[in-house]
Amino acid sequence: PESENIKVAVRVRPFNSREIKRNAKLVVSMSGKTTTLVNPNNPKEEPRKFDFDYSYWSHDGYKELEDGYRAPKDGKYIDQTGSGKSYSIVGSPNNSGLVPRVCEELFKIIDQKKNPDITYEVTFSMLEIYNEEVRDLLNKKKTPHGGLKIKENVDRGFYVEGLSTVPVGSYREIRLRMTEGERQRTIAATKMNETSSRAHTIVAIKFAQNQKKKKVTKLSTMNLVDLAGSERAKQSEATGDRFEEAKNINKSLMTLGSVIKGLCDKSKYKNASIHIPYRDSVLTKLLKNALGGNSKTIMVAAIGPDAENYEQTLSTLRYANRAKSIKTDARVNQEATN
Ligand code: ADP
Ligand code: MG
Repeated sequence: PESENIKVAVRVRPFNSREIKRNAKLVVSMSGKTTTLVNPNNPKEEPRKFDFDYSYWSHDGYKELEDGYRAPKDGKYIDQTGSGKSYSIVGSPNNSGLVPRVCEELFKIIDQKKNPDITYEVTFSMLEIYNEEVRDLLNKKKTPHGGLKIKENVDRGFYVEGLSTVPVGSYREIRLRMTEGERQRTIAATKMNETSSRAHTIVAIKFAQNQKKKKVTKLSTMNLVDLAGSERAKQSEATGDRFEEAKNINKSLMTLGSVIKGLCDKSKYKNASIHIPYRDSVLTKLLKNALGGNSKTIMVAAIGPDAENYEQTLSTLRYANRAKSIKTDARVNQEATN
């Protein structure tokens, strides 16, 4: 097995309309792989620097002002308040995110490899975790009251029982399925002012290569995860359904934080007996393999650019910085076929 660290990327979005209205100040800058954050409450404080595998600047269309901050050059800005997680993972109609790009690339490779001896099978599934319940996004009817059950076995680890899995033969088909899945979400992404950030979404693409002559199959799964917003979880004044949502988002994100911390301590102190609380939330059960096991993992942390988000941004950067030291062991999953 090939042991390697989780790759961590950070991306900063443009100002949104609210930030523009209140004359937002830019506190984030990037240079090469480094993201730098200035403390707006104490500008004399040494700016904090974090090195990542990638630092993506996406705060363009803004001109430098004399005091070092920036304002929009052409009045272009975004409308919603999220930090850009979904935009980075899923994307928008004019700007595809990681999921469509990765899928497109996958089918390009398959098409190039026209080897008559090898056949490829690609399948697709899509689920959301809402209030600690798993829902099938490809087939609403398949989700029983209380959500789909999570099972565990030695070979597969944690998995969702009865989740629909559909074969896909092209990038286009994946796109269609994604749109279908998006429509079935509990909180529709299209509702104005509703960023769909109250549920976690996991798209899984399974890829099997069958080598007929050698009678072996190589299996791999790509899990593309779009997390609900931690900004939502902080809204402690929320009541009713919103409170329940916030509590549950908190639960998964806190557990994810503890899992990341545990994994880092484990490799830092070389102590295999450190307990990793995967079982404490649905999200961490389903991400167990991605974080602690047989996989290659990339994490994208999305941050807002302005001073008001300073605390949130600092905690996100720390969280992401910590994740860098997690190690995973990717092995080739090979099975004999007949
Ligand atoms: P989150 O998923 O973190 O809650 P979203 O991805 O929904 O946030 O982003 C909030 C809004 O900001 C959306 O309208 C999105 O299109 C826009 N947005 C986010 N990141 C960028 C970016 N890098 N460039 C342009 N627009 C962005
Ligand atoms: Mg989102």
